[in-house]
Amino acid sequence: MPRQIIIIGGGVGGTITANMLARQLRPHEAEITLIDSTGRHVYMPFWLYMPFNDSDPQSQLLVRDERTLLHQRVHLLIGQVQQIDVANHQVHVSQSNALEPAGGKRESVLVYDDLVLATGARLAFADLPGLEEGPGVWHHFYDTEGALRLRQALSTFPGGRIVIAVAGIPYRCPPAPLEFTFLLDDWLRQHYLREHTVIEYLYPLPRVFTIERVAEMVAPWLEEREIATRVFFTPEAVDQQRRVIRSLEGEEVPFDLLILVPPHRGAQVIEASGLGDSQGWIPTDRYTLQVKGQEHLYALGDATDLPVPKSGSAAHFEARVLARRLAAAIRGETLEGDEALYDGEVMCFLETGNRRATQLVFNYEHPPEPPRPSLFYHLEKQLLNHAYWHLIPQGLI
Ligand SMILES: Cc1cc2nc3c(=O)[nH]c(=O)nc-3n(C[C@H](O)[C@H](O)[C@H](O)COP(=O)(O)OP(=O)(O)OC[C@H]3O[C@@H](n4cnc5c(N)ncnc54)[C@H](O)[C@@H]3O)c2cc1C
Repeated sequence: MPRQIIIIGGGVGGTITANMLARQLRPHEAEITLIDSTGRHVYMPFWLYMPFNDSDPQSQLLVRDERTLLHQRVHLLIGQVQQIDVANHQVHVSQSNALEPAGGKRESVLVYDDLVLATGARLAFADLPGLEEGPGVWHHFYDTEGALRLRQALSTFPGGRIVIAVAGIPYRCPPAPLEFTFLLDDWLRQHYLREHTVIEYLYPLPRVFTIERVAEMVAPWLEEREIATRVFFTPEAVDQQRRVIRSLEGEEVPFDLLILVPPHRGAQVIEASGLGDSQGWIPTDRYTLQVKGQEHLYALGDATDLPVPKSGSAAHFEARVLARRLAAAIRGETLEGDEALYDGEVMCFLETGNRRATQLVFNYEHPPEPPRPSLFYHLEKQLLNHAYWHLIPQGLI
């Protein structure tokens, strides 16, 4: 009997894992099922640029059908996993049934031998008072609708005070708010609005970025561009009527336009199944990617509590290790050396404006030593944004 491997989540982490397993294991060794709630694969880095350009929300650079990215041996089930029953090795899935009257649902129970949790993170607006009410004077670029609304807000922005803030840590893609700030500064200059605009960047840590070495590099670049910074600013509430953001530390900062990285949490199903910590992140072994205290249960990507940035890059490198480990375990093989463990590898770019970027490469042991920003890294990031669709979900690199 082939082993039943179920992967929950068709983002970058789940998709690479499924495809690599399908290539590494033969049909008699394993059947692979990937369950995703939407069946649509989204490339989130595209959202960073959407407020500044006129890209189509249906662009092939942003979203594609998950099926088109999967190896033919991977079964795709489009449905919402409602519950994971670890004791009985079962997942409970709810699928919309097009044949039934509106709202019809089909419930099914799938049994697994090995389960991979790649459920990502979700935006938890309710975690910060003031986000869910009011006229909508705050914005974000952390989903397609948010990025489009922000584009609209910028297109009629007459100048004033723009505040960029981060609701809390961890959040997806730590460099994104900094990158956004530099791109915004460029955009305001191109539109002759910079002279009439004050930009203030607020960050919850005692520095402007999570990694100290990078923060030290970036701080002078912000200063050169006359972008004010305020650190140790942990948002406690947004008052949309008075247009102020208040911090736990007791400060109030006024804004005309607030651009906020919303609060993040682990997926609902992880919390509902009692598999997460207080924020819904899955306690995961940093080297083996096994869920702590569980057999035949693995996690990767944004869903985990690993001490690496929530990034597609981390999910990518983790997926390669996880697929190799799982395939070896099924075959009864022993892996040795570097390929056996995840070493915390991450590689991402940081746009610094003016068509320049730098690159952050690091792991658990070695912090990044970013090179001087250049056109080369900016172009490399743009190239990756295109090449992604042909190489990365397929697990080809
Ligand atoms: C603006 C922005 C810019 C970014 N830029 C970069 C960048 O330049 N470089 C980089 O490396 N990373 C970047 N990232 C981060 C990167 O996109 C994410 O870290 C990455 O997508 C995480 O992959 P994942 O597979 O762990 O989770 P996700 O991609 O979030 O996938 C999780 C999947 O699980 C599914 N799911 C969840 N719950 C269930 C359920 N109950 N049942 C069924 N399916 C479920 C979801 O539908 C989703 O498809 C950026 C993110 C943002 C927001």
